[in-house]
Order: sequence, then C-alpha cells, then structure tokens
Amino acid sequence: MIAGGGITAESGSLVLATRMIGQAGNLARLRQWRDSMPGNSYIFAGAKGSGRRSLARVWAQQLLCEDGTGCGRCRSCRLHYRFSHPDCTVFEADPDSSLIPVARVRSEISGDILTLPTVGERRVFIIDADALNEAGQNALLKTLEEPPVWAVIILIVTVPERLLPTIRSRCVLLRMEPYTAAEVEAIVATLPTEGGTKERATDTTQLWRRLDAGQRKFLLNLTDNSPGQIIPLITDGDFGAIYNGTRDVFRTLLTGGLTDLLVDCAAFFKEQRDSLSLIFQLLAARLRDFMLFAAVAERTASEEQGMPAADTAARTPLPADKDFIFARERDEMQRLWEKQRSSTLRIGRALSLLNKAETAIANNAGFDIAISNLLLQLRKELTNAHSG
Ligand SMILES: [Zn+2]
Repeated sequence: MIAGGGITAESGSLVLATRMIGQAGNLARLRQWRDSMPGNSYIFAGAKGSGRRSLARVWAQQLLCEDGTGCGRCRSCRLHYRFSHPDCTVFEADPDSSLIPVARVRSEISGDILTLPTVGERRVFIIDADALNEAGQNALLKTLEEPPVWAVIILIVTVPERLLPTIRSRCVLLRMEPYTAAEVEAIVATLPTEGGTKERATDTTQLWRRLDAGQRKFLLNLTDNSPGQIIPLITDGDFGAIYNGTRDVFRTLLTGGLTDLLVDCAAFFKEQRDSLSLIFQLLAARLRDFMLFAAVAERTASEEQGMPAADTAARTPLPADKDFIFARERDEMQRLWEKQRSSTLRIGRALSLLNKAETAIANNAGFDIAISNLLLQLRKELTNAHSG
C-alpha cells in the first residue's frame, strides 16, 4: 500500500508513489527482478485490498523509469504520476459484466501489445485477471506464450488457482505479504493528500483517527489487516452509528425488554439494512468476547471439582485486555455475562444463529420476520429467558 501518491478516481484503488508502507520483502524481490527479469509475465496474488495494484504500479514505475529506480523526477515517472504514461496500461472489468470481455482481451491486450513502446524500452500491462473468464484467459494465452520482448504483463488475482494451469505455468508468482497492524495504521493515517480525490483521502484519515482502539482492532481483525478493505468500511457507511447501534442491540439482548428488542433493535436493523453483513460481523465479534468469560468460568469450575474448595489460587485467570477485541468494553461485558452466565454451548449456538439468519436473508427470506426471529432466538440462547 502506498502513501504519498494519489487515488484513481475510477476504481478508488490506492496507487503509486515513491514510498510504500509494508511489502518490504516483495519490494526487495521486485528490485532484483527489475535487473534479472525472470520472465515477461507475472502473477501478483493476494486478497482484495491488499495493495496488489499499488505494488504493480510501483514496479511499473521502476521498470519504465529512465534510471530504473522510480526516481520520481524523470519524464517517465512524471507521466506515471499523472496516470498518463502511454506505456503503462491498467485493465479492469467492464462495470456491467464484471468481466474483461474476450473481444477486449484480443484487441486491447493481445493486439495492442505488439505496438512498440512510446517513451522507453518497455510496456507494462496490469490486468485484473479475476475479471478474465476461461475464454478470456485462453485469449490471453497466446500472448503469454510468445510475448514481444518489450512486454511486461502483470496479472492481479485473489488466488492463483483461479487461473488456468497453462497460464500459471508461464508466469512468475508473487504473493502479497500480510500487513502488521502498525503498517495498516500508518497507511490509513497517511493516505495520500495530493491528487484528484484529496477530500476523500482526508476524510478517511480523520474518520480513522476518531475511532477508538476497540473499533480499530475490530476492523483490523475483520479484514485480516487489509487497508484496502478498511477504507471503504469507514468511508462508505456510517461506521460509528453501526458500531454503537450494534452495541445497543447486544445490551438489549441481554438485559432489555421484549418491546425494546422487537421495536428499537428491529428498527436499527431495518435502517442499516445495507450494512447487514458488517452488523453481523460486529455481533459475532461481541459474542466471541462474551464467550471468553463463559470459557474461563467453565474451566475454573471443572478444575475446582478435583481440589479443596478454599484453594482459589489455581483458578483460571481472566483473559487479559489484549485477548479481547473490544477491550475497552471488557468490564461492561463481564457485568452482562455475570447477569446471565450464558454457557459456551449456548453462545456457540447464538453464533450459528447469526450465520443462519444471514444466509436466509441472502436467499430472500422476509427481512422483518427473519430479524425478529433472530433477535428472539438470540435472546433465548443468551439469557435465562428459556428457563422461565
Ligand atoms: Zn524516473
């Protein structure tokens, strides 16, 4: 991922610059490959939002730069920063079909690649290969078999196995490295403030700064430290409202009345229906924290069966703050748990209820009924309501 560059208006993906945060091993590898060029075709594999395209653009800059370093000053680098380098082309899916149609592969890639470079000695093609179906991949194959000497083709994929074995065998594979939490923090906090979409970048940075430690930790866990996935989560929806709303739902499930649950909580789900998946993830993360209290209590109980009642020194200690996703809310969570003393078994069932409801709604179950059912069943599992 990049700091100090710009964001492409069309795709929203982070791009370019002289300074990249994270991916140190890959950057070193790419510097070597720049000199040795182990092939014409490459696969950059990693999760969506892991910076694959940014890394490809950084390498393209180095490959096209006049002194080969990505100096940032030469004509080639300046063209690159403006997204107008004639020898670097990025291919993304057509928005309506989510595919790069075979016809485009034939004319814009396989056909066009035969044209000589305009500025330097190479031409770089960065292709969203997840958008190539089998026919599209087959259309590309011929080019990969006999690429012109100036061509560098970078296929961006989530998993290399999506590609035909005949394609994979002709490419050099590079896998994105995981980011540390600190790297993600640095990326989101130093998003590019130059270029066309300055406002959006500045907003993101401010939104991130406003989140508390628990909210940040949740987002890091949820996205597996993927800055490219965190950014839309905090900018596209109202993350703060969803976070607080989900906390209220959790409290109501454990201590609230039925009316609160079926009216207020149901209304929150309806209002934030577009962010349902995020709400379910937040609830699941809370249940996971909640389960830690139950697990400790159950382990302590079983340990104590075999020892004198007074010997409390051997009690299983409570998990530390770092074990919780929502560490700041640990005390409240503990109070809620002590009120209900829900078992790990029941909390586990509550977690699977969430999964079932999400699937049912995805399969067009009636939304209001599905949510009411879910809330009632969750309450039954998590509280002592079932015994009364
Ligand atoms: Zn340069």
